Amino acid sequence: MIVIKYLYIGIDDTDSPDGMCTTYLASQIINEFKDNAIELVDYPRLIRLNPFARFKTRGNGGVSLKILNNEKADLAREIVLNEVEKLSMFDCDNTNPGVIFYDGEITEEMENYAFRAIYEFITIEEAEKFGKSVGCEIHKFKKGRGIIGSIAAISLPLSDYTYELLAYRSADNYGTKRQIDYESVYMMDKETFPDTFENIDYSENYIAIEPKTPCPVLYGIRSNNVDSLHTAKNIVKVGEPIVDWCIFKTNQHTDMHIQKADNISDMKQYGCYEVIGEVKNVPKIIDGGHMFFFIFDESGEIECGAYEPTKNFRKIVSNLRPGDIIKVFGGIGEQNTFNIEKFQMLKLNDIEYQNPICECGKRMTSAGKNKGFKCKKCGKKITSDKKVPIKITRNLKNSQFYETPVSARRHLSKPICRMNLI
Ligand code: ATP
Repeated sequence: MIVIKYLYIGIDDTDSPDGMCTTYLASQIINEFKDNAIELVDYPRLIRLNPFARFKTRGNGGVSLKILNNEKADLAREIVLNEVEKLSMFDCDNTNPGVIFYDGEITEEMENYAFRAIYEFITIEEAEKFGKSVGCEIHKFKKGRGIIGSIAAISLPLSDYTYELLAYRSADNYGTKRQIDYESVYMMDKETFPDTFENIDYSENYIAIEPKTPCPVLYGIRSNNVDSLHTAKNIVKVGEPIVDWCIFKTNQHTDMHIQKADNISDMKQYGCYEVIGEVKNVPKIIDGGHMFFFIFDESGEIECGAYEPTKNFRKIVSNLRPGDIIKVFGGIGEQNTFNIEKFQMLKLNDIEYQNPICECGKRMTSAGKNKGFKCKKCGKKITSDKKVPIKITRNLKNSQFYETPVSARRHLSKPICRMNLI
């Protein structure tokens, strides 16, 4: 029996806020692989890790490639290390590239490490020790922090995944305004949504496929399948050269960062969770435009926040009222507040207790503490001071999900249009 062996390659932490993108570096490596007849097995992968990681440049993404482990493997290793040497933003203090080569099977232990890199913080030392223990070949540049993400990028199993097509600009244009025909992006969204998604934030008229940083990416289109990406690319018109493009398989928009918490007190700071709770108070806007309210269960309570960048989402949140039962999805950040990414209304509290209606048709008023009610119109009095339950109309619906707008959404957050896929 012939056993096919693979070489896994992980790359992370090559870029800086001033430029580069690890996906671009990967696309250059892939081009050189092609020139040397080195074929990729499956798509290159873009793996998003812990959204709270301290040293991330933007979206905390690492890249992995898989090739056959044959006589070309040493050449592949050489190409990867050369490109990382050549293209990484070494001048930036926070750019500390790490490259991993691994030629064994991906074990359960490695998969668990990858989930830890999404849920928790890992140190460089820990990653190095772990990598060595499972037989990774480790290459650290400067501090080599990138090995944390590189090991995770090769190890993470993808039970749910999406694709992203990234188109790259000519180096002469880096840092200049991107020449994208916005009309064509609207057309593309109309033609290809919901196969593609996160293209446009209609509430803000914001073109989400266009990065706002000086990186090599001209645009990135996200989708559930590769065919729709090809269609989308043909529709989007640009006024500058696309020097290269590449499709990545990714854990973006899968909610892979979200852990199920059985109750509120189980959740920890810098973790991302889904948890069920009862709304305790009417949401309030504070200075800066952030909106806060508490949810509680039998174990405790936590403050939930819909921050200013979530714009109109705050209007939706403002419709919550005490007694509503909701499932919230999000992460516990810096201030120990649960930063909501989306919520599902599980049980609306659509009962309001009001003063009774008098026989004459007028709503009664209180006759004083513990003295029942009286009617101002006909003078009738009743001794019971029990208010009566009235069903009220709500702007929110049972079972429905409500989410932050595209412009404020995390890379890992699963949008509602993907909620029923897996
Ligand atoms: P981009 O999105 O443009 O690729 P980035 O946001 O991914 O940039 P990086 O330059 O990759 O930023 O830096 C993130 C750093 O955080 C990497 O060194 C990575 O190894 C490290 N890292 C990833 N996950 C964790 C984790 N769970 N704990 C600690 N460090 C982590």
